[in-house]
Amino acid sequence: MKQYDYIVIGGGSGGIASANRAGMYGQKVLLIEGNQLGGTCVNVGCVPKKVMWQASEMLEMIRRDAPSYGIDAEIKEFDFAELVARREKYIHFLHTAYQRGLDSNHVEVIRGYTQFIDKETVAVGEEHFTAPNILIATGGRPGKLQIPGGEYAKDSNDFFRLTEKPKRMVVLGAGYIAVEFSGLAQQMGIEVAWAYRNERPLRAFDEMLGRNLVEMYKEAGIEVYPQYVAERIEKNGEDYMVFFENGSTLSADFVLFAGGRIPNTDGFGLENTGVELDERGFIKVDRYQNTTAQGIYAVGDVIGKLDLTPVAIAAGRRLSERLFNGKDLYLDYEMVPTVLFSHPPIATIGLSEEKARALYPEEELKIYRSRFTPMYFALNEYRQKCEMKLVCLGKEEKIIGLHGIGVGVDEMLQGFAVAIKMGATKADFDNTVAIHPTGAEEFVTMR
Ligand SMILES: Cc1cc2nc3c(=O)[nH]c(=O)nc-3n(C[C@H](O)[C@H](O)[C@H](O)COP(=O)(O)OP(=O)(O)OC[C@H]3O[C@@H](n4cnc5c(N)ncnc54)[C@H](O)[C@@H]3O)c2cc1C
Repeated sequence: MKQYDYIVIGGGSGGIASANRAGMYGQKVLLIEGNQLGGTCVNVGCVPKKVMWQASEMLEMIRRDAPSYGIDAEIKEFDFAELVARREKYIHFLHTAYQRGLDSNHVEVIRGYTQFIDKETVAVGEEHFTAPNILIATGGRPGKLQIPGGEYAKDSNDFFRLTEKPKRMVVLGAGYIAVEFSGLAQQMGIEVAWAYRNERPLRAFDEMLGRNLVEMYKEAGIEVYPQYVAERIEKNGEDYMVFFENGSTLSADFVLFAGGRIPNTDGFGLENTGVELDERGFIKVDRYQNTTAQGIYAVGDVIGKLDLTPVAIAAGRRLSERLFNGKDLYLDYEMVPTVLFSHPPIATIGLSEEKARALYPEEELKIYRSRFTPMYFALNEYRQKCEMKLVCLGKEEKIIGLHGIGVGVDEMLQGFAVAIKMGATKADFDNTVAIHPTGAEEFVTMR
């Protein structure tokens, strides 16, 4: 049996970050990965998604916006297979970069799926490894559609396996993956019908964001079907027919189900450890990422708090700082900024107006809004709006929520997030001289 200081299960965002940090402090670290280094983010998440989003933005700029600047550009060909091949080459490069990083921190990597034997011992095949500290960073996988014919529905992983564009997609779901894939597919020339169960999508976010997005998606040509609950799917020649509870049907050659993620907590012997799961199947942790079993920790999507790469990385690094560098660090899961790569993008941090109203009395809150046409569209007949909102609390008007949808908000948010995390007030925003002409200046000039 091989002995280590730290065993990390899962070579995704959280696992790699934590293993590297432990290695930097001279620990003997083993990282076990069943599939490809980089996990969801690199292989079937953020990275391929952003590449596809960028391609679709470019197509949209050339088609929709270039003529308004007097540019007579033509898309002679959009070679989807070529884009996918280049994307995968880039992902392969990232695998080698991750491996180099791990090598430089003397982290040993082995490939294979782990089984827990007991609290301090894991097996990969016949080999056993032991350590006083073990991190579970096994992430999650797409949920399955539990209706008759649900097996015909594909998921985000399947979308990234495509080398040929579908002609038409039915997208089922109301969360960020449904929103992002509907948008990028439509801009790539795939007909999109987007259906979701409730009245509005993105219900975890400020209402203004989903409302604007639906309007913009409709204008862009996406068919939007609120309050459509899928009942069954049937194969119909080359196509699939989705039947909804309201009696309607939608058909397509690719049905994407983007209805949530399942944590990878099953099938690897967690029952041998004393690690407890919550009622949804996620690993229970305290704020220090300690599970209910001494010496076993968990970070990332497997704990079901905030499924974001930088969150998994930050929690993984802080854990190693605590375990191997004596620092009393833990991740604060409040005020985490996030961007949805829709068309246009959405940027958000903190409380939505609805959540703030549920928590605080009316007189404690002040909401600032701005709706304008970004200068990018000044010469265009198509005048897509940008809408922004600040949610402020108390006499000092502390900013507890900032939300935006529109061109460029994806790159605006990070800087504002620093200020908000430091406790910025509306007066601090007002005291900051605007940068003109930008969209971002609206955030510091709201009245
Ligand atoms: C379509 C999509 C788009 C996304 N876009 C964004 C985005 O734009 N920005 C953002 O911040 N986040 C995004 N995310 C979320 C992000 O990818 C995850 O939050 C992040 O990857 C979580 O990291 P993790 O370390 O918890 O798990 P993962 O990255 O999923 O890594 C887990 C690893 O563990 C391995 N593993 C599982 N079980 C075992 C086992 N028993 N033994 C050995 N290895 C095992 C898996 O193979 C995997 O490599 C997106 C996700 C998806 C699905």
